[in-house]
Amino acid sequence: MDRPVAFMDVAVLPMDSERRLEHQVVVVQAGRITALGPLGRVRVPRNALRVRGAGRTLLPGLTDTHVHLATPTELPLYLVNGVTTVFNLDGRPAHLHWRQQVEEGRRLGPRILSAGPTFSEAMTPAAAKAKVDAIAAAGYDAVKIYNQVGREEYPALIAEAKSKGLLIMGHVPRKPGFEATMAAGQSLAHAEEIVYTAFNPGVEETFGLAALDEAKLPAVARRVAESGVSVTLTLTCFHDIDRQARDLDAFLKGPNIGYLPAWIQAGLRPGANRYHGRYNPTDLAFIHAAYPFQAKLAKALSDAGVPLMTGTDATNIGPVAGFSLHQELEELVAAGLTPFQALRAATTAPAAYFRRPGEFGMVAPGQRADLLLVDGDPLKDIRRVRALEGVMAKGRWTDKAGLASLLAAVPAAHAALRAGLVADFATDPVTAGRRLGEEDPLGLLGGDVLAEVMTREGAGVYGRILDVLRQADPASPLLKEEVGNNLGYALLQRRAFTQALAVFRRVCTDFPRSANAEDSLAEGLAKSGDVPGGRAHYRRALELDPAYGNAAEARKWLEAHPD
Ligand SMILES: [Zn+2]
Repeated sequence: MDRPVAFMDVAVLPMDSERRLEHQVVVVQAGRITALGPLGRVRVPRNALRVRGAGRTLLPGLTDTHVHLATPTELPLYLVNGVTTVFNLDGRPAHLHWRQQVEEGRRLGPRILSAGPTFSEAMTPAAAKAKVDAIAAAGYDAVKIYNQVGREEYPALIAEAKSKGLLIMGHVPRKPGFEATMAAGQSLAHAEEIVYTAFNPGVEETFGLAALDEAKLPAVARRVAESGVSVTLTLTCFHDIDRQARDLDAFLKGPNIGYLPAWIQAGLRPGANRYHGRYNPTDLAFIHAAYPFQAKLAKALSDAGVPLMTGTDATNIGPVAGFSLHQELEELVAAGLTPFQALRAATTAPAAYFRRPGEFGMVAPGQRADLLLVDGDPLKDIRRVRALEGVMAKGRWTDKAGLASLLAAVPAAHAALRAGLVADFATDPVTAGRRLGEEDPLGLLGGDVLAEVMTREGAGVYGRILDVLRQADPASPLLKEEVGNNLGYALLQRRAFTQALAVFRRVCTDFPRSANAEDSLAEGLAKSGDVPGGRAHYRRALELDPAYGNAAEARKWLEAHPD
């Protein structure tokens, strides 16, 4: 580990300006770059591992500034693609634990920065302030704002986050709106957020082709530039959404889908996919047109001097960890940015946004040794970044063969994690529940594992497991409404109706005031052929909350299925 590494006779993209230094030597010791200079003028330690650099280019490790880390077994996917830093935008304690393990060299993965749990509902200013304080105290780096944050608490939330030194990132909260978000200095997690709110003010979540007005691009870009915020574009994510909505079959045949865990792939398939079959023709037309419009927006933002960052929204809605960052770089170049500008969005721009410009994002002495060695010159052709000869993360060098074997091991690691949990639930549900908290922070695997356990052991096992957990581990994520709900849908997708209904009924019992729980039970009953049951529970859901998320759909269903 402590053996120095020297990249010999290599071309370097330092990324401090648009330049390429030929015939250089770069020395790395103890995780840092210690020397950079022309061949013959840099002293190479006698015991150094010498890596051939001729014909190759050394550039800083890449950053994905918009990910959702779903499972520890996906972390190597970032590294094998040269993504050495990720910004996780909906954090849980497990993410902080993984970060610690990566830093200590006990887990292989990119450096992790993380927002705390997302602000995804309206609350009082005092509650928002308390949540910010808890996020800061837990050690997260940022607050993540979502659409629902209200006018009243937004200023309090922002002020508290600033006073705690937290980064501020997210969607445009709809009630405060675009202008307030810019005035607050909140950075943006998607280009599409600008489309929805700056081009379509006052219209909440309603897509309209008229909003895509190119004449407004320069003024909007200027406003974003003046505010000083950074923008993560996620063009590749929006492109993937458009593809899933229009031609899911082709999307699922993509070359890297197989590296997603089976339980995430299941959520992308027809029936479970959240974009396929969900939009009417007008919305589909909007989405299809909004994708190239965002490419034009990206170019306008770049021309106006807005710091742009590469982000992908991997992993659970389509983009595949690591691979998608290369797609994003190529999207930026297709949008009209130069390869240098695209690379800046993946290196120095995130480092500046994270307020750590001296620490990473450049090839320079003193920087953390996060480096990519690629074949060819990415400044001439951005696709050369994919031609990895090796990756160095915090001084740890992995050559091309090493990257290939890391990648080849990923699908088996996903499968082993799942199989281990299935086995644990049969013998020791409390330990299995804790493991889920540690290895399934977003609750995506738990449902799938329990579905398997119930299919093997019968529907009754679910109630017994929950009763044990309630006694032994009341904080278990499995006791959460969301996790139970997801489990029900996982079972429904397998057409395991008896098990699905057992789960939905239990969630309704545990969360008797939840309209969403009643809605899920109603859907399960309707899909299993029990129309009167569906009617009763959709009505109950509307009684509990006439304006709940799926209320309009529920009314439509009730109209179509009268007594
Ligand atoms: Zn996201």
